Amino acid sequence: MFCVAVAVLALSQKASKAPTPNLPICGLHLTAPSTQAVPLLCEFIKTSLVTEGVNTLVLEFDYRFKFTRHPEIADGDPYSASQVKQIALACKEAHIHLIPQINLLGHQSWAKSTESLLRVHPEFDETRGKYPDNKGIYCRSYCPNAPGLHKVIFDCIDEIADACSADAFHCGMDEVFILADPDCKYCKGKTASSVFASEVNALHDHLKATKRSMWMWGDRLLDGRTNGLGEWEASTNGTWDAINKIPKDIVISDWHYDHAEPTPAYFALNGFPVVASPWRNSNLAVQQLDMMEALRKGANPKIASNAQGMLHTTWCDAEAFIKAYMGSKKQSKDVEETAQCFKDLFKAIRQSKANH
Ligand SMILES: [Zn+2]
Repeated sequence: MFCVAVAVLALSQKASKAPTPNLPICGLHLTAPSTQAVPLLCEFIKTSLVTEGVNTLVLEFDYRFKFTRHPEIADGDPYSASQVKQIALACKEAHIHLIPQINLLGHQSWAKSTESLLRVHPEFDETRGKYPDNKGIYCRSYCPNAPGLHKVIFDCIDEIADACSADAFHCGMDEVFILADPDCKYCKGKTASSVFASEVNALHDHLKATKRSMWMWGDRLLDGRTNGLGEWEASTNGTWDAINKIPKDIVISDWHYDHAEPTPAYFALNGFPVVASPWRNSNLAVQQLDMMEALRKGANPKIASNAQGMLHTTWCDAEAFIKAYMGSKKQSKDVEETAQCFKDLFKAIRQSKANH
């Protein structure tokens, strides 16, 4: 009986063995710098990112690419395929997983400037003819139900992802405020939740068909009224219950910049692989790291394995970030704080690895 008990105990210990706290994903998110800065970026990847221990680079191109199938959509200072391939090669040499990004659905404009997709294809605009000069809104959205839209979007994704030799793609989808507009003839009568979930599924299906996994920001999947997170880092426009209508293999980038919110646990509990995304507050970034490691160490194996790691965000020109990282004192306070936070976070990650 004792032997049986010992054997059962041994088996149960083996079955419940949690993954090591070491994080599978130690990532950095950058907006693609000017094309002139490609050599600087490649050098930064092969030297500094390797030294820091970065193993994943999410690079946000949006529409800055010389698309061959839709050349008219190439936005300001577009990358050639060969420039993107240089970056992909640098990442390959550095053993860094390169994940390209186009911010889809929302963020189709910034201040008065509308991005190329809706400039070229105003028929894809969710609020076509409304909000001249983008006055009174945060950002424009495309209409996910507009005829012909997905053909264009999928071509753009494929071209950038192919140039990166990518097996994953980050679709953005944060801070979407304009959705299921009552004046949109394609979305009228639909709920924001159903429209959002439908678009996530459409993007996921396309990426799956092209053997790529999907990443997205997590804010639209959090209930900002119940949890007090508000309308930016969470949703108050009804999209949050889309979390129950989308595939569970999407990697959620869970960004929070004011508090170490326990939301990684929420996503992990709901079956999603999740990375925590800090920005420019070192103490907060380390708290988020501690939380992620606690999940990996203390939760059951299923939840623990969903706690995938960290994706540091920068939200500044990538060239300025690199220069601040290198010690330039000519950058803004925000940029310097961001670079310092990145250094502090990765120092803590290395220390944690050394302790295990
Ligand atoms: Zn619509």
